[in-house]
Amino acid sequence: MQLIPIPAFSDNYIWLVHNGQQAIVVDPGDAQPVLQTLERTGLSLQAILVTHHHADHVGGLAELRDRTNAKVYGPAGEDIHQPLQGMSANDRVQALGLEFTVLDVPGHTAGHIAFYCPDMDGAPLLFCGDTLFSAGCGRLFEGTPAQMLASLDLLAALPANTRVCCTHEYTLSNLRFARAVEPNNPQLLAYSAQCEALRAQDQPTLPSSIGLELAINPFLRSRLPTVKQSVQALHAHAVREVDVFAALREWKNNFR
Ligand code: ZN
Ligand code: FE
Repeated sequence: MQLIPIPAFSDNYIWLVHNGQQAIVVDPGDAQPVLQTLERTGLSLQAILVTHHHADHVGGLAELRDRTNAKVYGPAGEDIHQPLQGMSANDRVQALGLEFTVLDVPGHTAGHIAFYCPDMDGAPLLFCGDTLFSAGCGRLFEGTPAQMLASLDLLAALPANTRVCCTHEYTLSNLRFARAVEPNNPQLLAYSAQCEALRAQDQPTLPSSIGLELAINPFLRSRLPTVKQSVQALHAHAVREVDVFAALREWKNNFR
C-alpha cells in the first residue's frame, strides 16, 4: 500500500492511498490534481472520504464523482449538498481491503469526523481533516473548546505509531507557536529543525504520528505543567483544564 499527499491550493494535502490498481482519496477540495494523479499512475478511484464540509475539502467532489463513479463517504451531521453515504461514530468503511472506523471529532466544525484504520501494512493510519495538525489543531469555527479538547483526547488515545494524515501543511507556523509555549522542550526543538530542513526542500512534514504529537503538540499537552504555566502567565484566570485549553487556542489565534 502506498500513501501519497497530493498538494492542492496553497497548503492543502489531498491524501491518496493505493494498492497499485485502486485508490481512495480524502478531502478532495480540488478535482484537478487528483485526476492528474490518477491519469499519471493509471489508478482507478474506488472511494472518497470526507471529514467536514469546508470548501477546501469538498470542492472537487462533484467532478470526481462524475468522472470516476467513486463512492463518497462523509459526515452524516453536515450539509454537504452532494450525494454521499452519511457516516457517524463507529460506522465502518471498507475500501482497498482496509477497514476504517469513523470517529466523531467535533470542534473545528460541528459534525467533523475522522477515519481511523487500525492496520495498513502493520501500522495504524488516521485521516483527521482539520482537527489535529502537526504541532497544532483546527480553529474552533463551530464547536466549543470542551468539544475540541474531547476530540483531541480521543485522537491522543490512539496507538503511538498511528500515522497522522493532516490536511494542511501548517507545521512550521504551528511550531513557531509551540516554541513560544514550550521554549525548553528538547524534542520540540529537534523536530523544528527536522521540519525546517524538509520544507527547505519542498518536502511535506506529514504524516506525523500520535507519539510524536504527544511529545511536541501544545494542544495535546495542555494539562502538563509546562504548557499550563505558560498559558497562566498570560491568562491567570484559566484554571480548569478546559479554560487552559481555551486560553491556549485563543493565544494561538492572536499569535503572529
Ligand atoms: Zn476546515
Ligand atoms: Fe481546511
